[in-house]
Amino acid sequence: MDVSWEDFGWERLALGVGRRRLPGWDATVGVVVGADAVLLYDTGSTLREGAEVRAQVQALLGGRRVTHIALSHPHFDHVLGTAAFAGAEVYGAVGLDALLRRERDAIRADAVRHGVAADEAAEAADLLVAPHHPVCGEWTLELGGRQVLLANVGPGHSGHDLALLVPGEPEVVFCGDLVEESGEPQAGRDAITARWPAALDRLLDLGGEDAVYVPGHGAAVDAAFVRAQRDELAARFGVS
Ligand SMILES: [Zn+2]
Repeated sequence: MDVSWEDFGWERLALGVGRRRLPGWDATVGVVVGADAVLLYDTGSTLREGAEVRAQVQALLGGRRVTHIALSHPHFDHVLGTAAFAGAEVYGAVGLDALLRRERDAIRADAVRHGVAADEAAEAADLLVAPHHPVCGEWTLELGGRQVLLANVGPGHSGHDLALLVPGEPEVVFCGDLVEESGEPQAGRDAITARWPAALDRLLDLGGEDAVYVPGHGAAVDAAFVRAQRDELAARFGVS
């Protein structure tokens, strides 16, 4: 193949596993490639951004399309590109589907408040895709020659936090915004702060000491960083 992950500003994390830090809010999108299926973790902040990710993935994979999507949590910079991936099977933490239907306008308004153009936010919110598959506990996805684990490790950063564990060398854990590297972890109105440290304990249980942990925003980190962030959050929120 002539194109590489780096040509499009993607970072290769392991064989068939990559991520891109999107411009604007530095939100991560991740890709896991199997023999039969291509999984995307999060979809960007607008349909335009989603379409750009779709085109890049297709170019990287010789025309193959994203077949599955996992949404980390219901914030605009992670979910508003989903409608750009027609036909993909969408997974989210249980309850995310109802929340996205109910909170469509609040997500649009939040996007505009953060600087997304009003018409782009309205279009993406109108077409917002609710997950077809609710994940309680853990869900193994077979991608063809490799399995990945979707884990409902929350609540914490939001009421609906879904992590993605990709076994391999190294093992890769996509954390969503439960972990942030490029700034302080953001606790908005929907954060369940009392349970956030326990969510990070579950992430560490899943990935162990040697995994690469990919934050929702920022550079990939190690278990020690996640553990330190867990302790900071526990102190900040008065949880043991
Ligand atoms: Zn978030």
